[in-house]
Amino acid sequence: MVVGIIGGGASGMAAAISAAHNPDTQVLLLERQARVGRKLQATGNGRCNLSNLHASQGGYHGEETGFSDYAISQYPPEETLAWFQKLGLLTVAEASGRVYPYSDQANSVVDVLRFALEKPNIRVMTGVEVRRVKKSSEGFLLETDQGQLRCERLIVACGGLAGSKLGGTMSGYQILRGLGHHCTKLRPALVQIKTDWPGITGLKGVRANCHAAIYRDDVLFARSQGEIQFTEQGLSGPVIFEISRDVCREKGKWVCILDLLPQVSQQKLEQLLGMRRDTGLPNGEILTGILHNRLGRVIVQSCGLTLTGAASELKDNEIREVAQAVKGFRVSLTEPLGMDSAQVTAGGICTEEFDPMTMESRLVPGLYACGEVLDVDGDCGGYNLQWAWSSGRLAGNHAGGVRNA
Ligand SMILES: Cc1cc2nc3c(=O)[nH]c(=O)nc-3n(C[C@H](O)[C@H](O)[C@H](O)COP(=O)(O)OP(=O)(O)OC[C@H]3O[C@@H](n4cnc5c(N)ncnc54)[C@H](O)[C@@H]3O)c2cc1C
Repeated sequence: MVVGIIGGGASGMAAAISAAHNPDTQVLLLERQARVGRKLQATGNGRCNLSNLHASQGGYHGEETGFSDYAISQYPPEETLAWFQKLGLLTVAEASGRVYPYSDQANSVVDVLRFALEKPNIRVMTGVEVRRVKKSSEGFLLETDQGQLRCERLIVACGGLAGSKLGGTMSGYQILRGLGHHCTKLRPALVQIKTDWPGITGLKGVRANCHAAIYRDDVLFARSQGEIQFTEQGLSGPVIFEISRDVCREKGKWVCILDLLPQVSQQKLEQLLGMRRDTGLPNGEILTGILHNRLGRVIVQSCGLTLTGAASELKDNEIREVAQAVKGFRVSLTEPLGMDSAQVTAGGICTEEFDPMTMESRLVPGLYACGEVLDVDGDCGGYNLQWAWSSGRLAGNHAGGVRNA
């Protein structure tokens, strides 16, 4: 039996390696880019946050709640890490539950998967794009830019639209729609949020640990804690990704309030700044040593103070204002960036049309789907790759007819 897999990304490679456990199955893995795992190589800022130890406790979204539960429970994080270890990858977990390769290089993850694909019953074809799929009585006819290919069973692992420079495409949605499936509305998720505050350009590249709270029309919408990154256009980093879901989707006044020194109370900070008055520093340096220098200066200016003025002349209420700005720095939000910049696509092919215990289509027997092309997206921190591994292996084992999977 030939199992065709469209997409040599995270879920497609996991599916291929799994399906090939049945020696009677021939696996044909098709990737339109010049090499497999291109997006994977860029994940986690080149470090690849490949899983999260808390992924079995939820953290997945989609119109059908709970669709991902079975796949994640069959192939939970610990088991996934043992699977990777068998492939030759050592991993390390941070206190937050995020898992990375021990080498700290995403390349290592791609490499062990590539090695595992080197099996007599796996054929990997790169630089081949599947344009259309037709169902026939014997299976599936794949129309590619290099001619036609046939397979008895087919796994669509084309990923989502997010990160288009790294391979994100509409292709998987189009192929599955062509076979009768439906798609929910696609939106960027785990994405930067833009601001119209002009001061942001001066903070480009600055990182800080903070508490972030997002308000819509003065009502708390979401909050989280962690690292923020200021970019040329807005706010980014894990703390923002975690709460970016659905921000600015509805009309209203959206504001992010940052506590840039969550471990120090307002009162303590006022005392610290009060002591600095006696040092003879200019205002522009009053937060030096406490915050990133550029961030400190922007905060001083946001309080209407000149950078060159003498800190020794600051009044108590001005010191209080600076401390308040550090503990509650306000940035107005306008809209999320687009799919190009998003890490994951929210929405996708309707999961009601697939069996969560096998990943097989309920509409087209012999057709399977896995990974981001389906309407499943996970929280920030390794949840999306964990979904790719779990759903890919489930689909691969079933499509490949693997016993005792
Ligand atoms: C910059 C960035 C950083 C990220 N960091 C993390 C992270 O650290 N941790 C985490 O959990 N998630 C992360 N993600 C999300 C994660 O990478 C994806 O959710 C995951 O790769 C999805 O796996 P997939 O197999 O469904 O799709 P992909 O990995 O995108 O693979 C799909 C593959 O299919 C190929 N393809 C598509 N259509 C066709 C076709 N018609 N014919 C042939 N081939 C085709 C594509 O070229 C691609 O290689 C990140 C995403 C981005 C963009």
